[in-house]
Amino acid sequence: MRTNSLQSKDIAHQIHPATNLRRHERVGPIVIDRGSGIYVYDDEGREYIEGLAGLWSVGVGFGEKRLVEAATRQMAKLPYYHIFAHKTHEPSTLLAEKLVSMAPANLKHVFFTSSGGEANDSAIKFVWYYNNALGRTDKKKFIARQGAYHGITIAAGSLTGLQANQRGFDLPLPFAKHLTCPHYYRFGLPGESEEAFTERLAKELEDLILSEGPDTVAAFIGEPLMGAGGVIVPPVNYWQRIQEVCRKYDVLVIADEVINGFGRLGTLFGCDTFGIRPDILVCSKQITSSYQPLAAVLISDEMYQAMADQSDRLGTFGHGYTASAHPVATAVALENLAIIEERNLVANAAEVGAHLHAGLSRFADHPLVGEVRGRGLIAAVELVADKATKARFDPVGKVGLKFFDRAHQHGLIIRNVGDSIAICPPMIITAAQVDELLKRFKATLDDITDWVNAGMPE
Ligand code: PLP
Repeated sequence: MRTNSLQSKDIAHQIHPATNLRRHERVGPIVIDRGSGIYVYDDEGREYIEGLAGLWSVGVGFGEKRLVEAATRQMAKLPYYHIFAHKTHEPSTLLAEKLVSMAPANLKHVFFTSSGGEANDSAIKFVWYYNNALGRTDKKKFIARQGAYHGITIAAGSLTGLQANQRGFDLPLPFAKHLTCPHYYRFGLPGESEEAFTERLAKELEDLILSEGPDTVAAFIGEPLMGAGGVIVPPVNYWQRIQEVCRKYDVLVIADEVINGFGRLGTLFGCDTFGIRPDILVCSKQITSSYQPLAAVLISDEMYQAMADQSDRLGTFGHGYTASAHPVATAVALENLAIIEERNLVANAAEVGAHLHAGLSRFADHPLVGEVRGRGLIAAVELVADKATKARFDPVGKVGLKFFDRAHQHGLIIRNVGDSIAICPPMIITAAQVDELLKRFKATLDDITDWVNAGMPE
């Protein structure tokens, strides 16, 4: 138990997201004090490689002075204003223009929120409002996938497909339906090819639309490559087939790019990697490298025009937050996107990402490693009890959690999703720094192997 006064105050008063509350009291927090580049340091001066870029988000790394200066300049000039009721300001307007120039061509209109969850809630409301504008008042259901993460608000949390975010909260609400997680290694049937797996999932989608009634199904939402559910790369041709089925039944396609967006997969958006033409694109995290809370919902011109045409009948678009289009957050985003461009960080994610995957693939033969997967600068290594049968450790997550704790001792921060170890470092990482990350990963894996071989003592 770590016991300095900050830790005691934390345990006494803070409720931590996504944390086992009693375990937190027992283990106590690591106090992260400062950051520089790909590293963060605790209050006792220990260095960690931030192998998850905070929460999959600090693309340009820690301590980027240009972002501090952009925030300071905007703070001094106009620290806050809203864009309600026919007002606007420079940074959010320029950012909207910038995002439209980067995104798939049909997406022309941008709505800002402060978080990915709020952005997905807003996407749901855009879809409902759009269908109301068209008089399709029953077309309101959403289809998502098991393993998806779309946030934790009541509505976005209903689209999420992870038990931990729903158990105990009476979620999902009935408008949200879930399909099989597109993870071939886990959910492909014995003897089933990857192509046949894709076909089965496309048929599952079509069957669900037909059984619910196409007039009631509004949208399909998916992360191009699933992040928080364990870094799941979709099977071959998956997005082509999903989009075909959606178009056939007039079901909108929403790409949740909150993790994928702005270069993570080695392309600007996950939509570019997988050939997705979404009606709505949601982004956040690397939009500001998380130096400021910000998210954006980009919608198609077709949707916008249909909504605008009906604005006299439906009245004011009565949706928006005090911090929507916040000037400091949007000013920081503009500077952050300029840095991503100037330093070629998207290309870096592709090149250094290939080096990361080559390094991780060396663990593929390890007896505890079931699968190594990912794309660009996002990866996962799934640990299994039996490589031949893919049997999980029992209970799932215990080994992953041990890995998570032990990695700290080797100066590495990762995320365990059950027994999958996720890696998603800042996009500024170099090949040499990847080698150092892999060294620390291997040292942790060696420890875990010894512990498993010793019968996993408490
Ligand atoms: N969508 C995806 C794909 C995410 O990964 C996340 C957060 O990790 C969210 C939405 C929710 O974002 P936020 O935590 O900002 O609400």
